[in-house]
Amino acid sequence: MDLTTDASCASEPDDGAQDIGKSIYALAARLYPICRSITGQGVLATLDILRQHIDIDVHSVASGTQVFGWIAPSEWIVRSASLKGPCGRTIVDFADHNLHVLNYSIPVHARMPLGDLKPHLHTLPEQSDVIPYKTAYYTDEWGFCMRHDQFATLEEGFYEVSIDTEKVPGHLTYGDYLHRGQVEDEVILYAHICHPSLANDNCSGLALLTCLAESMRSESTYYSYRFIFAPGTIGSLAWLQRNEERLGRIKHGLVLSCVGDGGGPNYKRSRQGLAMIDRAAACVRCGPDNISPTLSDFIPYGYDERQFCSPGFNLPVGLLQRSAFGTFPQYHTSADNLDFIRPEHLGSSFQMVQDILQILETNWTPLNLSPKGEPQLGQYGLFSAIGGHKTNSDRVMAYLWVLNLGDGANSLLDISERSRMPFSEIAAAADTLQSVGLVANLGIVRL
Ligand code: ZN
Repeated sequence: MDLTTDASCASEPDDGAQDIGKSIYALAARLYPICRSITGQGVLATLDILRQHIDIDVHSVASGTQVFGWIAPSEWIVRSASLKGPCGRTIVDFADHNLHVLNYSIPVHARMPLGDLKPHLHTLPEQSDVIPYKTAYYTDEWGFCMRHDQFATLEEGFYEVSIDTEKVPGHLTYGDYLHRGQVEDEVILYAHICHPSLANDNCSGLALLTCLAESMRSESTYYSYRFIFAPGTIGSLAWLQRNEERLGRIKHGLVLSCVGDGGGPNYKRSRQGLAMIDRAAACVRCGPDNISPTLSDFIPYGYDERQFCSPGFNLPVGLLQRSAFGTFPQYHTSADNLDFIRPEHLGSSFQMVQDILQILETNWTPLNLSPKGEPQLGQYGLFSAIGGHKTNSDRVMAYLWVLNLGDGANSLLDISERSRMPFSEIAAAADTLQSVGLVANLGIVRL
């Protein structure tokens, strides 16, 4: 199967998480080769591909525009970059890998001795066979990134540097897409669009959110869902500035990055710490082994949740990842490639996000209609229902938890937290108890 030509994420009705994983992978594979940065053609080319799936609105912010305490930078254009050795042999070439050029490098055309060149060559001595990813967004630097193994073989002599780039007045670009729900209250879902050929960070996040938006088109939701694809920091700040008047609508939010590898999952809480999104993310499980997310408190470092959670906004936005950024050796190197992300991991990450959103949409409060003592479950035909369930004891425990905490004061999320059982298990038990008349639905909890 040629994964790179599949233009649709839509799954057949009987397709499972594995098939959506393949579709997300196929889209990530189309995005991977593009040289992105915080501005420039790479972002536009990426949005063009995403727009083949969903009708994204593209927004431009002129270079030089004040964005809170920042200035939208000049647009970066990169045409080519190469380094030739003393014998005329090409040492590194941007055409071979876009990580070879320092991202946002200024133009240089010069001949220089190795000693003058070396401060501009970036390597990772501890990971000598990979190309590091380096940026110089807000300075006037130039440079190349290369494998340390190759760097170690460079001989004395004169080298020819040719970096054909420009920084010109232009635009910063971002995209957003709205899935309209029954109400204008919004859930924001954000992925950064500024990284070049790095698969997990963040082709995975861009592709997953696009496929999620596409799959949502056929669904009716309570909340409206706003998908944002913007360059890191300056992009989320530009979005916040342009939408400042309407931020009160945002009830929940998630930033997604590194969702294609087999590690984690990891969830970083919003600055609020006890927001419903923080609680929901703790009550889902990942993959066939039902792994609970490792939870961490908010810190003012990471991805764009920092901007959404800055004190002037303090929005309920968390960060969902598989392996946490900076903790895996492939992070910000050429090893973060299409072999590092897998369809099955993208599929289970997709399912996790869907499960989190499902909690936001459907968290209802059960009332036990037979609260004096435990009901005899067999009288309600629940034992035969239990018989086919692969984890009988879990389902029985879920019945008992819903019945016991179903005093009208606890939502399904409350019960999931207190029982330490997945929300999906508690919700399935509550649905069954309602269908046999043991539980009444007191309504969905809304913020
Ligand atoms: Zn990154």
